[in-house]
Amino acid sequence: MDQISRPTDRSASPTSRIDEAAQRIASAARVEDAPEAGVAVLREAGLLHLAAEETADGYRYELPWRLALRLLARIGGADLSLGRLLEGHLNALQLVALYADAAQKQRVLAAVRAGTLLGVWGADTEPRFAVSGAGELRLTGAKRYASGLGLVGLALVPYEDEARVSHLLLVPVDDPARQDAGAWHMSGMRASRSGTYRFEDLRVDETAARVGRPGDYRREPFFVGGIWRCAAAQLGAVERLVEILVAELTASDRLQHPLQSARVGQAIMAARDARLNVEAAAEAVETGSLDAELAVSLAALSRLRVETAGLEVMQLVERGLGLSSFHADHPAERVMRDLAVYLRQANPDALLLDQARRLSRRLPDLFR
Ligand SMILES: Cc1cc2nc3c(=O)[nH]c(=O)nc-3n(C[C@H](O)[C@H](O)[C@H](O)COP(=O)(O)OP(=O)(O)OC[C@H]3O[C@@H](n4cnc5c(N)ncnc54)[C@H](O)[C@@H]3O)c2cc1C
Repeated sequence: MDQISRPTDRSASPTSRIDEAAQRIASAARVEDAPEAGVAVLREAGLLHLAAEETADGYRYELPWRLALRLLARIGGADLSLGRLLEGHLNALQLVALYADAAQKQRVLAAVRAGTLLGVWGADTEPRFAVSGAGELRLTGAKRYASGLGLVGLALVPYEDEARVSHLLLVPVDDPARQDAGAWHMSGMRASRSGTYRFEDLRVDETAARVGRPGDYRREPFFVGGIWRCAAAQLGAVERLVEILVAELTASDRLQHPLQSARVGQAIMAARDARLNVEAAAEAVETGSLDAELAVSLAALSRLRVETAGLEVMQLVERGLGLSSFHADHPAERVMRDLAVYLRQANPDALLLDQARRLSRRLPDLFR
């Protein structure tokens, strides 16, 4: 842990702070047990407020897409759980900048500058999350798969009313008595500290908590379009696996075997193809260079392509490196456990079918 607690030079360029933070996180062998140390690295490097540019009414979300992609892929490659936490943090930071009022933005800016990690906790469970009252809101129910239990201080909590219109609340989520980390009995992404958070009888001030207008949360290209960031973090793990495959085959003097070389070639192609998809999506969503519908489609494609690339590369690593890659001390072992779990995002079948329909009408825009 010595190496991970070394302070970062905040005057260095964002790119070198990102690379240094990733290197420190990757070299910390026990981050799976102690994600706090990894979050501390992000905090010390100033990466939690890198995207928050102060303005008269709080802040605006300002992070060039190439830098955002580097941030997510490098940290995701170093530790996919931390990549996931960072992805949720950036998502919340962007949604607050887009939809919150000045007082909320000032509160969030002060919080992230002080090192608070943010999250977006949307996944429902039983009892279902619900809101009643006005002025003072009474929250009930729970959210599951909530990443960052005990690490996230403020979460954006989306919910739907009876008419299925979406709403967003900004809620402090640091009460240990409401956290159920035991709900996350998964083989991977353990350091993401995901689990269930119970909101039963939590009272919040409506003016402070309610972010934006009804329906804002689902506005595109920032709702489905935002999944490019999740794909970017996953991409980092895919690229890390390719690096590990090459390094291990080189070290064992097996790289020159034609079948091993072919595996490396296939792995590089899959990772590169996934990267190009993520780059195209990031640029379209973050710069508005394409219309919102097409930008969302590219983001969906990037998620699906990173999924297939991840599955292909994991199989190539297992076949190419064999049994030893399953050993707990092997550099690929935890990366593959984490990636296999994190690739499981909501309803990939529906996403593919929906995009097949939409993109069938946009082929001239794709094949330029
Ligand atoms: C590491 C990790 C961290 C996460 N952190 C957060 C977080 O912080 N906040 C948050 O809100 N969520 C979080 N999530 C949850 C995430 O948003 C999704 O809810 C979750 O990943 C859904 O996965 P699933 O496999 O259960 O999806 P499912 O949608 O159940 O998909 C499983 C399979 O069923 C198919 N399928 C889905 N619906 C149907 C249907 N009606 N009929 C037939 N087939 C169907 C799918 O195509 C797929 O093949 C996290 C998830 C992971 C893995």
